[in-house]
Amino acid sequence: ASLTSINSYVENAKDAYIELNGANNPKQLIRDALKERVTNIDHENCEPGDEDTFFVADLGEVYRQHMRWKLNLPRVRPFYAVKCNPDPQVLRLLAELGTGFDCASKAEIEQVLKMNIEPDRIIYAQPCKTNSYVRYAANQGVKQMTFDNTDELYKIKKLYPGAELFLRISTDDSSSLCRLSLKFGAAMDTTEELLALAKELGLNVVGVSFHIGSGASDPSAFLKAVQDARVVFDRAQHHGFTMRTLDVGGGFSSDTFEAMAAVLRDALDEYMPANINIIGEPGRYYVASAFTLAAHIIARRTIEDPATGEKSYMVYLNDGLYGNFSSIMFDHQHPVAKVLCAGASGHFYFDVAAGQGSRNGVEYSIWGPTCDGIDRISESIRFSHTLDVGDWLYFEEMGAYTKCSATRFNGFSDSHDVVYVTSEPGARALMGM
Ligand code: PLP
Repeated sequence: ASLTSINSYVENAKDAYIELNGANNPKQLIRDALKERVTNIDHENCEPGDEDTFFVADLGEVYRQHMRWKLNLPRVRPFYAVKCNPDPQVLRLLAELGTGFDCASKAEIEQVLKMNIEPDRIIYAQPCKTNSYVRYAANQGVKQMTFDNTDELYKIKKLYPGAELFLRISTDDSSSLCRLSLKFGAAMDTTEELLALAKELGLNVVGVSFHIGSGASDPSAFLKAVQDARVVFDRAQHHGFTMRTLDVGGGFSSDTFEAMAAVLRDALDEYMPANINIIGEPGRYYVASAFTLAAHIIARRTIEDPATGEKSYMVYLNDGLYGNFSSIMFDHQHPVAKVLCAGASGHFYFDVAAGQGSRNGVEYSIWGPTCDGIDRISESIRFSHTLDVGDWLYFEEMGAYTKCSATRFNGFSDSHDVVYVTSEPGARALMGM
């Protein structure tokens, strides 16, 4: 399909979203991909690394999330937060779908520009930037960037006076998983001074940005942030700036999206007239549910209760907190294991209820491969199967803040294969798959 036909498809996002939800079985597609990959590994003779952990990514899920965004937030143009998961195929699909990109560093800007994305589809959304990166942004014509303090204004005056600046304000992010306003965002009572200095330095403030915290759950944080942004818009106009864009940041999750979007939509309609452009910087929302991770049990330790004789097991996977489960440390996640393949027969189970909280089944704790005791994925989980070395587990919802913050600690790889599937014909057409 051509980009034009996709665009008209997106225009009809409402119908598309409903139809697509009914017409496809993405879970089956993902299971087939998991099964095929594991079946093809010769576990008895394979080379080191052939049985490494791997992802299955459903680009159709990213596509559906885009439709859902268009349906619920038609005024807000998403600038995908690359940091969340810089997967090249995800970026390619989003580029085809017409999103912009929120970049936090030179490497992210470079990755996006290399896809032939125009510089005006990028916002360098990092209020405390590295000098040489600002020079790079200037050379590449990436004009849009955020600031939240006076020192940054002097830096920009020196290195890129032609930049288009967004004043990032702090928010009430107390309901979020990852609080960002501890570190970034100008307090409301400092915005007057910042705008006055920007004017004095001859800089160009064009908008306001905020972020209500990643994994936010209180929609009223959006209302308050938009109200504050309105105050700053008025102050900036008073200083003679032509304010044209509001950047509502990220903080959206799949589970609460409709409720959050409804509050944001109403707030925008009330406080931001139609001539103001609205952009957002969603990360987690687009990718969390699109990636499933499969990991291999490399070792097992049996624990016997001396009183009852009951056996439980510690199982060790070839991935952990220093790898793709970095989301447990940095993103406060609790990934839930499911059994993919167990037993000498290599039987595939999928979706075996983990039975958390129940006393049925065999109890396991799940650990990563490194030497560190902190490297524990799950303290206690029960399965009806007896798991052993060679079996496989899988974890859904592993697309956000996982592989991007993996390390090579203990010499394990920080880059793993991704098997791509597309449960949407539209995404397949765009990607030529
Ligand atoms: N924009 C900025 C400036 C961020 O720092 C982040 C996350 O840290 C995001 C966007 C993406 O946030 P989320 O994944 O919650 O949508």
